[in-house]
Amino acid sequence: MSTRRPLVAGNWKMHKTGPEAREFCTALAGLVGDAPAADVAVCPPYTALEASAEALAGSPIAVYAQNVHENEKGAHTGDISSAMILATGAQGALVGHSERRAEGDTDGQIALRVRNAIDAGLLVVLCCGESLDTRKAGETEAWVTRQIRSALEHVTASDITSLVIAYEPIWAIGTGETASPVQAQEACAIVRRVAAETVDGEALRVLYGGSVSPANAAELMAQPDVDGALVGGASLEPESFAAIVAAAG
Ligand code: PEP
Repeated sequence: MSTRRPLVAGNWKMHKTGPEAREFCTALAGLVGDAPAADVAVCPPYTALEASAEALAGSPIAVYAQNVHENEKGAHTGDISSAMILATGAQGALVGHSERRAEGDTDGQIALRVRNAIDAGLLVVLCCGESLDTRKAGETEAWVTRQIRSALEHVTASDITSLVIAYEPIWAIGTGETASPVQAQEACAIVRRVAAETVDGEALRVLYGGSVSPANAAELMAQPDVDGALVGGASLEPESFAAIVAAAG
């Protein structure tokens, strides 16, 4: 039985204004209570980070950004830095989500973002995962291995407490098609094995993401190498997200 504490994080993507986030977070805090059996986080858009952090002050629910720039300041229109995220009251950031990679975030940037965000004091949830073509070609392991080695290029063993990795097959994100528990377990075990070249694999939390719902969450998170979930669509309603949190316990 693993001693790793599960983490359930909700990625809102481009949903919810500040006032909507405040309302959601107040409702979620009531549903989740003071002592959930898992770590819990919401990942609002940048414009709702502060409202979310304010609404969740005093609750065990953390706030993470959906991305972070690798530089501390400068001519980067539209981006925000680790220090700006921390100043909102947020404690972490997703890095390397497939939707960000599709918008142009490169492997080199992702590796620098992981390093910079950890140095600044953020918890990083590094995302990786293969496309359907890659899976059909039997290249999932090689793809995920390359993504993780690249993203952890500047990471050292002492960064373990600031790092979580989410395995998110692109073909399962927002499609309603979930990886089977066996597929999720196999891929999360690969993630752990490759990350263990750099950090303590036994201590590393590896999440599954891709159409997680209240109906499938318990079985996915019961897999030995699945330490929680990164949830998109089902994290947008307090009741369904709280049900997934409950399934992690
Ligand atoms: C995600 O955005 O990381 C995600 C897993 O989305 P969904 O749960 O909607 O597939």
